Amino acid sequence: MELTNEYLLGIQKKVEEKNPSEVEFHQAAKEVLMSLQPVVEKDSKYIESGVIERIVEPERQIMFRVPWVDDNGKIQVNRGFRVQFNSAIGPYKGGLRFHPTVNLGVIKFLGFEQIFKNSLTTLPMGGGKGGSDFDPKGKSEGEIMRFCQSFMTELYRHIGPDTDVPAGDINVGGREIGYMFGQYKRITNTFAGVLTGKGLTFGGSLARTEATGYGLCYFTENMLNANGKSFKGQTVVISGSGNVAIYAHQKATELGAKVVAMCDSNGYIYDKNGIDLDAIKQIKEVERKRIKEYLNYHADAEYHEGCKGIWTVPCDIALPSATQNEIDEESAKILAANGCYCVSEGSNMSSTPGAIEVYFANNMLYGPAKAANAGGVAVSGLEMSQNSERLSWSFEEVDNKLKDIMKNIFDNCDEKSKMYGMPGNYMAGANIAGFLKVADAMIAQAN
Ligand code: NDP
Repeated sequence: MELTNEYLLGIQKKVEEKNPSEVEFHQAAKEVLMSLQPVVEKDSKYIESGVIERIVEPERQIMFRVPWVDDNGKIQVNRGFRVQFNSAIGPYKGGLRFHPTVNLGVIKFLGFEQIFKNSLTTLPMGGGKGGSDFDPKGKSEGEIMRFCQSFMTELYRHIGPDTDVPAGDINVGGREIGYMFGQYKRITNTFAGVLTGKGLTFGGSLARTEATGYGLCYFTENMLNANGKSFKGQTVVISGSGNVAIYAHQKATELGAKVVAMCDSNGYIYDKNGIDLDAIKQIKEVERKRIKEYLNYHADAEYHEGCKGIWTVPCDIALPSATQNEIDEESAKILAANGCYCVSEGSNMSSTPGAIEVYFANNMLYGPAKAANAGGVAVSGLEMSQNSERLSWSFEEVDNKLKDIMKNIFDNCDEKSKMYGMPGNYMAGANIAGFLKVADAMIAQAN
């Protein structure tokens, strides 16, 4: 697919001029603008209202200093971010990422995608994202706690249960959310549902930990079923070994698949017998060690340095669940040549534009992140509902709602892809479905 519409090309040009060097944001914007070509050609109100010029501009972006004291008593300084992109359909909502690669462009691409993803869930949530270039690798427990407290000491003034409700993302899990929630409570003297992904003893939702990985498999199973296939008996490769990857492994296995490879940022493991999830959980969730340790549990498995090689492992279905642009054109070609027929994204913007071209050229099923990984934020939305009601729902209740939401998201992407003349293009379907609801709300609110 090419971006050829003159009007949308003009918007893309402005995005690139106004946000120089924010390459990930340019990429995310271009993908959405490309998908919107049939929308603006069908209904001129989306041009006349200027809603697309507005939607690519964040409502607010905040950058701040995060000073903290390391274990040697030395002051360290990181940069914090919160981009409040769009509040047309609800309070800003989106995760916090702590990773040395974080910069404004990365947070803006994530916040922009979050607008459409949150809209797809059908829950009332706007789009936002935040984080820091803090690298938790090699930091002590105390250093991580002090960093989180300092981060919240600035962030607290910008968020609130009806304003902006952050959650976790890369390197921000239950532990970090706990430290940040504690600091928010101390500063404001309020016990409020201001973060999601909280511990179960202080307002967290059952099934939130599992939600993104489970949701990814529910979406993918719906996509497979609609095309005469299913997870049953299939060989699966999942990149990453964090929150999304672990619970994607669990659900894919429950649905009858065999997961043969996983990775971290150092390298990947291949276990032809199927990766032992208990070993991964012990290494990653309990000991917080490197995936290489897997060989201590299964000496007959293979470990290879570097994570890109994971896409050379033959599979039927690939579930990238580590980071953005992890599958490039070259890797996509290898996947296709080895018989992979489905790529469904757990990580945000897992595939480069070149990789996506390869999927379409090879008639592969492609589940785009905005739709496929929306289960996490959907259950975050359910956590917000439970906090407002001061109630906790059972695991089954939340899981059943998640299943319904993921089916509904797939059906919506499928329907919009057909309605706009691109059947089977769930990327365009997701972008269009997510856009229409937010755009109509923005037009009605004149802002
Ligand atoms: P975690 O921090 O729990 O796990 C991330 C995993 O990906 C780790 O195995 C990590 O390896 C690996 N990884 C991270 N960055 C890189 C990199 N630059 N290169 C190679 N490997 C990398 O994060 P999550 O599982 O929560 O998030 C994974 C992806 O899913 C992200 O793209 C996130 O935005 C997306 N996502 C997460 C949601 C959630 O609810 N958690 C919701 C929706 C999307 P290592 O430990 O070596 O760094």
